[in-house]
Amino acid sequence: MPEPTPFHDRDGFIWLDGELVPWRDAKIHVLTHALHYGSAVFEGERAYAGEIFKLSEHSQRLIDSAKGLDFEVPYTVEQIDKICRDVVAANNLSDCYIRPLAWRGSEQIGVSAQATKIHLSVAAWEWGSYFPMEQRLKGIRLTMAKYRRPDPATAPSKSKAAGLYMICTIEKHRAERAGYADALMLDWRGRVAECTGANIFFVKDGVIHTPDPDCFLDGITRRTVIDLAKKRGYEVIQRAIMPEELSDFSEAFLTGTAAEVTPISEIGEHRFKPAEICETLLNDYMALVQPARKAAE
Ligand code: PMP
Repeated sequence: MPEPTPFHDRDGFIWLDGELVPWRDAKIHVLTHALHYGSAVFEGERAYAGEIFKLSEHSQRLIDSAKGLDFEVPYTVEQIDKICRDVVAANNLSDCYIRPLAWRGSEQIGVSAQATKIHLSVAAWEWGSYFPMEQRLKGIRLTMAKYRRPDPATAPSKSKAAGLYMICTIEKHRAERAGYADALMLDWRGRVAECTGANIFFVKDGVIHTPDPDCFLDGITRRTVIDLAKKRGYEVIQRAIMPEELSDFSEAFLTGTAAEVTPISEIGEHRFKPAEICETLLNDYMALVQPARKAAE
């Protein structure tokens, strides 16, 4: 594999604690609480033709995620929205990914972190399809993860918290090593939950089924796609889905800011054929997020 350009060594500007700084200068100290204790929350957003999709929902989720970790982001939704837009503009980006991050600083190292200051950074970079387009239309192959999404009584499972991605990275690596694109995670009860960075949907007899997001992220893309499906007249059932049911479904797909709508061809021994519903919702989603591009076609 070619070496990707490392993220610390790029041109451009990153917003850090109140100002846009040259990309390579956006640094923190090794004795930063977040690095040791996982006290960080983040967002993942996409801009299409310069417009950040559902920006305020992401900014609000960042604030809510931090509350789940017992800290306050010292900015309002409106301020975070503006910072994100400024970063996209400062880097001359049009179609890109935006990464806000809020974390506890270096004033205190220990389990108690009451004295730490809260920091905020926002970076943005050009980013195409999460999964290559030709692979996406064929459907991606998933394996089953071993780790499970935690019980809300065990972790702040509704926060987009850095620490919750520890098991996602382990599972993504396990999947990639075995030749799969991603892994499907069950929840703590053994129900189908989500993938390592995206929500999941299934189709049976023309009806859409998706797990209740009661212990994982109720994705902004997930909610958008449910609305699009309902607009098309499809019935959408949110319910507990057991892994034994996977053989009953004809289509399956992932949703997420990065993944957008990505059809699935395989989960372990189960096979799916991306068909009408995958295609319709993938097209509807892309048409919704890319009005400028769509109009130019
Ligand atoms: N679940 C996980 C674990 C994720 O990382 C993401 C991506 N943020 C999602 C679901 C989908 O969320 P969204 O549609 O808001 O990007």
